[in-house]
Amino acid sequence: MTLLAGVLAALVALLSGGGARHAAPASHASSHGAGESRSVGRSSLRTVPPGPGYPETSEVRRLIAMGRPIYCAPNRGNEVALTFDDGPGPYTRLMVHKLRKHGVQATFFIVGRNVAAMAAWPRQELALGAVGDHTFTHALMTSLSAAQQTSEMLSTQGAIARAGGGRVFLFRPPYGAHAASTDGIARSSGMLQVLWNVDSRDSLGASYRQIEQRVIAGLRPGSIVLMHENHGQTIRAMLSIFAALERRHLRAVSVPQLLTDDPPPSAVVAAGGRACGVTAGASSAGH
Ligand SMILES: [Zn+2]
Repeated sequence: MTLLAGVLAALVALLSGGGARHAAPASHASSHGAGESRSVGRSSLRTVPPGPGYPETSEVRRLIAMGRPIYCAPNRGNEVALTFDDGPGPYTRLMVHKLRKHGVQATFFIVGRNVAAMAAWPRQELALGAVGDHTFTHALMTSLSAAQQTSEMLSTQGAIARAGGGRVFLFRPPYGAHAASTDGIARSSGMLQVLWNVDSRDSLGASYRQIEQRVIAGLRPGSIVLMHENHGQTIRAMLSIFAALERRHLRAVSVPQLLTDDPPPSAVVAAGGRACGVTAGASSAGH
């Protein structure tokens, strides 16, 4: 099974590479405006067949054991991670369909209380890359006791697992707000805290053009991009973002794959967001 998945991944990479070579004469287009290439290159993005989700690797386990949040991967490969928070919800079907159609992988940080009414989606989202825990009630973890934080995390882990999303080993605190106690609970629960270094600000009412501009400006190897699957403007921005990925010869993969293919050194993890270009106060409060 693992061998088969590897062969498929290699085949997809080969096909993607072939598409990129055809597009090579336009490689300088990355300096062009975001809105110009809405329909460019879609045909050379290959559809990725549904799979079991990216596994928990030894690299991910090493990072979990450090007990520190991850903001990005090193800026030296050709992969980025698109992440979508707060689902599943009414727009999940559209977002999943769009990602699947264009063969783009992603990571979904799920709110546990949303799962009961939409239990089919964690499995579908896992097949597109990875799913993570975003607390049960979208709680501000820094305002909760250790026991309450543990309950928020574990109840969501359980809800996702029961919905076929597998064992959850990724966690994103709402609003990016975490205390030392949060870090410790994530570590002892076997979960890696994943923050971001590119903020689309889609949950703050950004238009699709603003979302495109913010995300595309931040697309570089190792970037972890924060978006939300329940905003129509975000869904509308996706085709331009896919086109920008292709122009820059970047591949969108799941967070665990990004961190496995290009693992952040311990010193970078210890440096926190600064090492990823995240400045204090840069994160917005609408997540
Ligand atoms: Zn959120």
